Formats: sequence, C-alpha cells, structure tokens
Amino acid sequence: MTTDATTADLTTTAGLLSAIEYPAGREILDPATGEVVGRTREGSAADIDSAVASAREAQTAWAARPIAERSDLLNKAADAVEASAEALAELLSREQGKPLNGPNARFEVGACSAWLRANAAFELEPEILVDDGETHAELRYDPVGVVGAVGPWNWPMMISVWQFAPSLKMGNTVVLKPSEYTPLSVQALVAVVNQALPADVLSVVPGDGAVGAALTSHDGVDKIMFTGSTKTGQAIMRTAADKLARITLELGGNDAGIVLEDADPKAIAGDLFWGAFINTGQTCAAMKRLYVPESLYDQVCEALVEVAGQSPMGVGLEEENVLGPLQNKQQYDIVARLVDAAKNGGARVLMGGDPAADQPGYFYPTTLVADIDNDNPLVAEEQFGPALPIIKYTDLEQAIEWANELEVGLGSSVWGTDIEECKKVAARLQAGSTWINKHGAVDPRVPFGGVKKSGFGLEFGVEGLKHVSVPHVISW
Ligand code: NDP
Repeated sequence: MTTDATTADLTTTAGLLSAIEYPAGREILDPATGEVVGRTREGSAADIDSAVASAREAQTAWAARPIAERSDLLNKAADAVEASAEALAELLSREQGKPLNGPNARFEVGACSAWLRANAAFELEPEILVDDGETHAELRYDPVGVVGAVGPWNWPMMISVWQFAPSLKMGNTVVLKPSEYTPLSVQALVAVVNQALPADVLSVVPGDGAVGAALTSHDGVDKIMFTGSTKTGQAIMRTAADKLARITLELGGNDAGIVLEDADPKAIAGDLFWGAFINTGQTCAAMKRLYVPESLYDQVCEALVEVAGQSPMGVGLEEENVLGPLQNKQQYDIVARLVDAAKNGGARVLMGGDPAADQPGYFYPTTLVADIDNDNPLVAEEQFGPALPIIKYTDLEQAIEWANELEVGLGSSVWGTDIEECKKVAARLQAGSTWINKHGAVDPRVPFGGVKKSGFGLEFGVEGLKHVSVPHVISW
C-alpha cells in the first residue's frame, strides 16, 4: 500500500486508490477501455495464514460485545459507505465495467449500505422450543467463529457485503478473498467499512484461485461462504469435508421465465428486459431463457426489441449508458460461442449477435434470439451475458417441464395478469426463488438461495443470520 487507509481521503476515487494500490502489483485494466485502473497486491497462502490468525484472535472480543453494539457499528459502516458512495461507484464502474447508471454501479453501492443497515436491524431471539412446566428448552444461535468468504467479479462489492454483514452481526470475524478480476473494488470497500470497525474483524486478501483454495481449506476457518461457479463450489465442498467446515454455496443458475397467456406484453416488457439484462446479464439470478406462448410470441419479441433499443451500451462513466462490457475475455468468449451456436442452429437473431471486431473492451451487443430450439446450447447452458433466447411454447405443461429440466435451480419467474394462476405455476418450478411479474428482485429481508446444482444455504433476512451461526440448545 502507498498510503495508510487512515490518512487517505476515502471519499474520492484517487484517495481510495492511494489507500489500496500496490505500485509493484498486477495491473487491473478497465474492461471497457483497456486503460489501467490501478495495481493490486497479490496475496499468498502465507497472507491467508496471517489474516486467519488475526481474525481468530479478534473474534472472541468481537463476539463478546453486546449485539446492539455490533449493530451500531454496522450502521456506522453504512454511513461510511454512503459518504464514499460516489468514489466507490466510480472505481467499481472502471474495474468491473458496469455503468454508473441503471441497475449498475451506483445501485450496487446503494445496496451495500442497504444490506448493512438491514442486517443491523434484524433480531434473532432465542426460540423457546418446550416450556410445559416440567421442561424448558430453548434454541440459541452462537457465532461460528471465523468466516472465509470467496466472491465473484459480477457484483464484487454487494456480494461481499451479503457475506460479511450477517457474519459480523452474529459475532464472527471475516476474511474475504475477492475475484482476481475485481480485487480493487473489494479492497476499497473494506477500507471504507473498516473506518467503523475494530482491527482484524474484517480483512481482505486479494489473489487468484489458489489463494481462495488456501482460505477455504484453512483449518482456522469455521464457515465458508462462496459465490461463483458450480465447479469451484464442488471443489470447495470436497476440501471442506476434511474439517467439516460449514458451507453456504451460491452457484450459477440458468433461470427460466414463463410468460402466461393472459400477460400484457407491453406492460411487462421493461421488467422482462431488466430481469434478463441487469448488469449486462452477468448476474447469478438473471433470467437466462424466456418461454412465451405462441399467442403472444411476436408481441413479446417486438416489445423487448423496443426496450433494448432504448437502453444504450457503452463506457460506464458516460452517464447515458445503462449496459456495459462483459467483465473479462473468458466471459466474452462464452457469450460469443453460445450466440454462434444459436445462429448455427437456425435461430432468428432479432437484434445484436454481431460484435464489432476492432473496438477496445469486451463489448458484446445486446442480443435477442427468437425461434430457438429448447436444446440449443444458448438455452441449455448459462450465458451470463447480454444474450437472451426466447423460446416459443404451445403447451404450458411443456414450458414447465423445460423450465425444470436443467441441473440448476437458482431463480425463476412467472408473468401474467391473474396472480392466482401465476402462483400455481410458480409453485411447480424447481428453484430457490420464484418471482411473479419481476425477476431477480432480491431484498435484504427475504431469504435467497439455490436448489439442485445452484447450491444450498440461505442468505438474507433472519434466516441468513442462522446460516452464519451455530445452533445451541439449552434445556433444564
Ligand atoms: P469461479 O467459480 O472460478 O470464481 C469465483 C471465485 O472463486 C473467485 O474469487 C475465484 O478466484 C475463486 N476460486 C477459484 N478457484 C478456487 C478454488 N479452487 N478454491 C477457492 N476459490 C476459488 O468463477 P469464474 O470467475 O471463473 O466464472 C465462471 C462462471 O461462473 C461464469 O461464467 C458464470 O457462469 C459463473 N459465475 C457465477 C456467479 C454467481 O454469482 N453465482 C458469479 C461469477 C461467475 P479467481 O477469480 O482469482 O480465480
């Protein structure tokens, strides 16, 4: 680090960078322009050892504080995030690529303070299990200890807060390992939040997947929180078995949306579009395949093309843009391969699908694909980018079967006018969350998690607090 985080002005982007940058470190490039955003330190397994040891030492005193005091500090952390909001959003936009506006960088920083405040407010009282005059039994929730949290590059700040805010509230200390693609955003957020917290309660060790593995396999880590790919989640679960560490896994999905016959295409088009294209499609619980009845098919396609045409894509710091580049080359290649597969399979590209060859940055144009077979790779695999396949159906039973037939089950959605009918279809979908007339609308009060290969464990709300605690029954 060049400047001590305690002396830098963390309300400016330059101040944030001066607090976290490591001049001899690896260059982080803006995915929209290729320009250098900053340089990051690369941690090692030895840094993980030291961070976990410090977190363990700090945990006893942190857990011993009254819960109201920990809540108060989470609110102070939210104040600090709000004071640095614009600087954090700018750094996030430059490193991750997401625009300042739309459901993107400013929105993400706003969610960080919202989740901190919500966790500060939640109450998890002991549950009285039996109280019949002879026996009294109550269930309490104790801290787990040290939480090791590994995060992804799509919502690097917000997902870090999802992991550390409930953990801190419950008296745990936390070591974060951010994605190697977005380490500056998480280090900046931690520098800001740590203005409000005691030393070593929350720390961050940047580095690659090996550094992540050093954290998740560490004997001093009692609970692992992971958000990322199913493959890495499976690897983490294997190593966690040796020490029986507790785990929460929030993995990829391939969320289906089903439009019902009584939906109003024009009325739902905006929410359909943003359900799929939030963060330029790089969102775990975004809609990644849309099933539309034949009777509404052309109208829904036309309405989506219209919304897409009004949603500019470009460099994130330019205020008019609401869609940005893919964050990295690996993800760009996945999207390009899947759209090519759709074209080769005879699907009709309504818009997009033709990336410019000579531009800087990983921009893939907003792409809507119609008349595509349900078994095409663009439908069957997770694209995690700005390309939505729209599949026509004639039989609702068939659409439900298609929605449920994949190995993953994170989110899903049903769109229609008759809410009771929507609820009946929703109840039949295999997913951790099913939204009606919206998609991916997470709320800090409402539990969120996946089924099947989308992972397990719940985040958010009082249920989320239970998942970063250990149950403890006391009876007499
Ligand atoms: P990964 O699962 O590889 O990465 C997620 C995090 O895990 C990163 O911090 C990564 O570090 C770390 N990591 C990698 N290997 C290990 C390991 N063995 N032990 C512990 N931690 C490890 O996801 P990718 O970034 O490669 O993205 C691949 C795909 O995953 C995407 O195409 C998308 O489909 C999905 N994805 C899902 C997300 C979600 O929100 N559920 C978010 C991001 C991606 P490092 O980055 O340094 O390798």
